[in-house]
Amino acid sequence: MEDQEFREEVRTFLQETLTDDMREAALQGFGVERSIGAAWHRALYERGWIAPGWPVEQGGTGWTLTQQHIFDTELALAGAPMLMPFGLQMVGPVLYTFGSEAQQRQHLPGILDGSVWWCQGYSEPGSGSDLASLKTAAVRDGDDYVVNGQKIWTTNAHKADWIFCLVRTDSAAKPQRGISFLLIDMKSPGIEVRPIVSIDGLHHLNEVYFTDVRVPVGNRIGEENQGWTYAKFLLGHERTSIAGVAGSKRSLAALERLAREEVADGSGARLADDASFGARLHDAAVKLDALESLEARVLAEFARGGTPGDAASLLKILGTQMMQAIELLRVEAAAYYALPFETALIAGQSDTPPGPEFALRAVSDYNFGRAHTIYGGSNEIQRNVIAKAVLGL
Ligand SMILES: Cc1cc2nc3c(=O)[nH]c(=O)nc-3n(C[C@H](O)[C@H](O)[C@H](O)COP(=O)(O)OP(=O)(O)OC[C@H]3O[C@@H](n4cnc5c(N)ncnc54)[C@H](O)[C@@H]3O)c2cc1C
Repeated sequence: MEDQEFREEVRTFLQETLTDDMREAALQGFGVERSIGAAWHRALYERGWIAPGWPVEQGGTGWTLTQQHIFDTELALAGAPMLMPFGLQMVGPVLYTFGSEAQQRQHLPGILDGSVWWCQGYSEPGSGSDLASLKTAAVRDGDDYVVNGQKIWTTNAHKADWIFCLVRTDSAAKPQRGISFLLIDMKSPGIEVRPIVSIDGLHHLNEVYFTDVRVPVGNRIGEENQGWTYAKFLLGHERTSIAGVAGSKRSLAALERLAREEVADGSGARLADDASFGARLHDAAVKLDALESLEARVLAEFARGGTPGDAASLLKILGTQMMQAIELLRVEAAAYYALPFETALIAGQSDTPPGPEFALRAVSDYNFGRAHTIYGGSNEIQRNVIAKAVLGL
């Protein structure tokens, strides 16, 4: 009953706060405009709901895991914009767990109120899955490190104020032992951000080059050469939130509505009457129910004091496969209307779409969705984890 009342409270807040602009912006995912993303962030911050997973003394809500789950689900079902994870879910927990008091004072308020945006400088050309092989070097010079090297696939580096980076501080040690974790101001001289336009035709990704960038030693988290410990802690946080069950529920519900209402090809036939499409829609719905149960099981384990462990890998694999399955169904539903939109939309050449609204981003989202099974630790790597930890192979 208490949980039901809490759900109602969240729904009321969403009805009162979430504007059409925000819902519209939500469709852009990581590409959300900073001003609209910031308005939504601010609304949650002012309500005291911006960081439910944080300890209460750091600005958390003190909710139970069930309440956090209800909150995440209701936000996704209502179509709220995504909150950038780099501050709230990644570097924030690292800061309050391992950061100095001065670092916490400097950075936590801006993460909480949304005024400072962060990006993640882990991957490099040649160091993705095998992250510990990273080469970007930080050499001590007085009270500074001098950083040289390159990061890649850095989401939203072009919008970020700060980047948290893994850098090599000892090249003679074993790969994992020679890495440090630095906080770097993106305005530092010697940083160059170059755009990567991805297969959806949009710009979320970047290369970030460092040439003799001076970073105060005081910007290092914890001990020198212990960065791998903090990096792994952060990835644990990243992976528990990657299944996207509630978002998939919203997308599937929209698709089901569409199948009942829209015509497939102008012939008057409903998609719901197409046996093959209907069967695949039901198949996705059944798998999504199963995934939701798995997520509930993992949450219950958490609530009993356990860790997400191997189940997080399972959630990541199944959650991302589900997202891709739904994106494919949307492209099929859009049929030929999916084709002209991609380029017209991206080039901003068409403001009167020739087909239904839902077709607008179908191909673009489907294409970018290829990345779901890559970022946050590729699905092959997750399968390796399961093979080792669960099957003992
Ligand atoms: C959309 C997107 C956003 C991203 N955002 C960021 C970001 O903000 N910051 C950041 O630091 N990084 C980011 N990344 C990078 C991401 O973390 C890496 O792409 C990922 O870790 C995989 O590394 P890689 O691309 O170098 O591929 P590789 O590691 O070279 O892998 C290539 C292929 O080989 C497979 N493979 C590799 N090793 C093994 C193995 N041991 N066993 C079986 N199969 C294996 C992989 O699964 C993959 O299919 C992003 C990536 C994408 C696609």
